[in-house]
Amino acid sequence: MDKNKMKNYAELLVRSGGNVQKGQLVIIGCDVENADFGRLVQAAAYDAGASEVRMEWMDDICSRTTYLRAASEIFDSFPEWRVNKLAEQDERGAVYLHVRSSDPDALSGVDADRLRRFTKVSREATKEHTRLTMGSFLRWSIIAVPSAAWAKKVFPDLSEADAIEKMWQYLLKGARADGKNPCADWEIHKKSFEARLEYLNKKQFDALRITTGLGTDITLGLAKNHVWEGGGDVDKNGVPFFPNMPTEEIFTMPDRMRADGRVVASMPLSYQGNLIDGFEMTFTAGKVSSFRADKNESALANIIEIDEGGGRLGEVALVSNTSPIGQMNTLFYNTLFDENASSHLALGKAYPKNIQDGDKLSTEEFIAAGGNDSLVHVDFMFGTEDMCVTGIHANGTEEQFLKNGDFVI
Ligand code: ZN
Ligand code: ZN
Repeated sequence: MDKNKMKNYAELLVRSGGNVQKGQLVIIGCDVENADFGRLVQAAAYDAGASEVRMEWMDDICSRTTYLRAASEIFDSFPEWRVNKLAEQDERGAVYLHVRSSDPDALSGVDADRLRRFTKVSREATKEHTRLTMGSFLRWSIIAVPSAAWAKKVFPDLSEADAIEKMWQYLLKGARADGKNPCADWEIHKKSFEARLEYLNKKQFDALRITTGLGTDITLGLAKNHVWEGGGDVDKNGVPFFPNMPTEEIFTMPDRMRADGRVVASMPLSYQGNLIDGFEMTFTAGKVSSFRADKNESALANIIEIDEGGGRLGEVALVSNTSPIGQMNTLFYNTLFDENASSHLALGKAYPKNIQDGDKLSTEEFIAAGGNDSLVHVDFMFGTEDMCVTGIHANGTEEQFLKNGDFVI
């Protein structure tokens, strides 16, 4: 890939994504395979005025070896020093930049019980950090770059070098980062969300009915004073940022007690190195009452059964199938990209910003208002080219605003 385009992409992550300000601490998570790109991001962060940029190098292969070979009790605790490290960074108002390139199969075949146990203890230990990021007290941003294993998974028929090159092209195009001035392109992109958000936030539908040709037919109650979000975020100091690049979705939270019907996934879900495929769930009064998967049903069970909120919904997100990623008709095995190709739901925790003054509510108040709480938040795709979404008012009147996969508003 052209060095200039990579530099622009690194800059996009720093400037539009995390919106790094003068004097800030920046934390960059990056895979060792993409060290060159990680260094570009570090330089871009210093160019933007960061006072200190810490690198957190990751390695899929080392992670896998740890899951395969470490002593079993390792997976039942999360080191105190790691909690303290996060707390120190958060205290300093750090910006977190994540460069993702994980091999979707990195953890396949690893003991699912080790994964489940460690997910649980690490999520519990880092709850405060999650509260600060999901509540937009801190800014963060995620982009993706290719790794050899990931590129070969997406384009198995190409040579490794060709697969990586094609992956770069797809990722940059999907992230609207292949133009001359990606930061300016993102400002334009941001504006395109405004009219739809205004329409939906004004309507305050009581419920949505969503149907697809695959068999999804579900009614999702929406909480009173729910807020539709999309096209970026603003932190508590009023600094705008884009948590996800790409982002094509507009989303809100369903009422955790009011989902009824059947949801059939339209794409496999890559979760912790396992591909959950051919799956569906039935919801009764907000909770998964039955589920099945053709492949890796136990991984799906790990999400649903992690806690009370794991089997309830925390997000409904609508994506037009005219989005650049939707147009590529490619399965990326990566949530950041796949969730922006297609409408999706999330099992688990809801975003406080999806209800008015949600960040001022205690967890108990948030739950009482219809917000879901859980240790997990896992998006899965169920949108199709023939998806229809109808908004239902409390008095029963209906308005269809998404037809055959595209918005009619
Ligand atoms: Zn989403
Ligand atoms: Zn989500």
